[in-house]
Amino acid sequence: NEELMESVIKQMKEDNIKFIRLQFVDINGTAKNIVIPFKEDDMADLFVEGMLFDGSSIAGFVGINESDLVLKPDIHTYSRVSWRPEESAVCRFICDVWTPDGKPFVGDPRGILKKSLAKIGKMGLQYNIGPEPEFFIVDIDDEGYPMPYDEAGYFDVEPLDKGPDFRRELTLNLEELDFEVEASHHEVGPGQNEIAFKFKDALKTADAVITFKQAIKAIVDNMATFDQMDYRVTFMPKPFFGVNGSGMHCHQSVFKGDRNLFSDPNSETGLSKDALHFMGGLLAHAPALTAITNPIVNSYKRLVPGYEAPVYRAYGLKNRSALIRVPAARGKATRIEYRAPDPACNPYLAFAVMLEAGIDGIQNKIDPGEPTEINIYSLTEEEREAMGIQVLPSSLWEAYHALEEDPLILSTLGDHTSEKFLELKYKEWDEYRVQVFGYEQNKYLDI
Ligand code: GLU
Ligand code: MG
Ligand code: MG
Repeated sequence: NEELMESVIKQMKEDNIKFIRLQFVDINGTAKNIVIPFKEDDMADLFVEGMLFDGSSIAGFVGINESDLVLKPDIHTYSRVSWRPEESAVCRFICDVWTPDGKPFVGDPRGILKKSLAKIGKMGLQYNIGPEPEFFIVDIDDEGYPMPYDEAGYFDVEPLDKGPDFRRELTLNLEELDFEVEASHHEVGPGQNEIAFKFKDALKTADAVITFKQAIKAIVDNMATFDQMDYRVTFMPKPFFGVNGSGMHCHQSVFKGDRNLFSDPNSETGLSKDALHFMGGLLAHAPALTAITNPIVNSYKRLVPGYEAPVYRAYGLKNRSALIRVPAARGKATRIEYRAPDPACNPYLAFAVMLEAGIDGIQNKIDPGEPTEINIYSLTEEEREAMGIQVLPSSLWEAYHALEEDPLILSTLGDHTSEKFLELKYKEWDEYRVQVFGYEQNKYLDI
């Protein structure tokens, strides 16, 4: 599309762009990039042909015997990198990864999400996600350990809350990066913050999650350098024992044209059958989904009772102790909130598998059962069993096995990525399980 390309190039000149970051993610959802100088005459070639790179050192990609891959910038993702200098400025494009013979590369997480979206696109459907990534600002103490940056709690104000300058700077930058920031606040945990932003279809939202994490970390790092301080941002799911962890709840809905499939004004709850079945699908596949939405050892230290993180496979209309909550909004704004994901997940893979689980629910009319409106944390095991409420995997190792046994989730990832993912997670668990921690030494030394 010549016109689009010309308008992007015009914008690049207005923005004084000197460098172009070609960005993508590896299997872990870690942002990667290569930078090229901006040369106007090369742009047509870049957009059409892409740029060759060596994919052999990227986690989850290819072996050294088949290392060449191609980065194809998605022209719709142009953005000036707000935290880099305005003179000789830097921009970035998010890229699709292709093979040199002109096919989407099967190991590209963005390609995996696009494939699932294309499938529902054929049915005339659009999948929307609004994520809520939480994060901590920590100080590194003299011994190298992280400490919460302040002692404030939910919605606190300064001087207890030491975050206003951070959130101000972050919001201003995010707006420059085309985010529509809805609200920001201090979260429950000391040093914990949340900045809510609006996003629509799942692909844009997954791109936005990557940009969000990268921007927040880079900006706070710049501020720390300026202040000559050792504070930093972490999206680690459970950085501290005994206080809330960081989740990335995902509000989701499916639209057909202008119509929200989850809304039915004539039903008692305002929810449609499709909404219930979508939740049924998420609940049915929840154990395998957890491997993707909560992909690291530390993720499972968040998924414990008592900290607003889900543990039980149930849904509720208000209930924050259930895996799925249905916020009060109805009509066009009807949505469900899947509360398991944490910000360590690869958003492309997480959105793809949640979508396929939900669509499976709609297609096979999977019944989610009755909503649970009591605080499930307070139930005994017997009471839970009597109500038929099962638990989520309690460790990466359990989730790993659940994933192995879920053909739908494996096929969403495809052979290449599911093999690589299981291989990586096996190694991660194996490395973790032999560690001996201070907790154990304190508890067992006198035995
Ligand atoms: N931090 C909580 C979690 O781990 C969520 C708190 C909230 O509801 O915003 O999921
Ligand atoms: Mg929150
Ligand atoms: Mg939430």
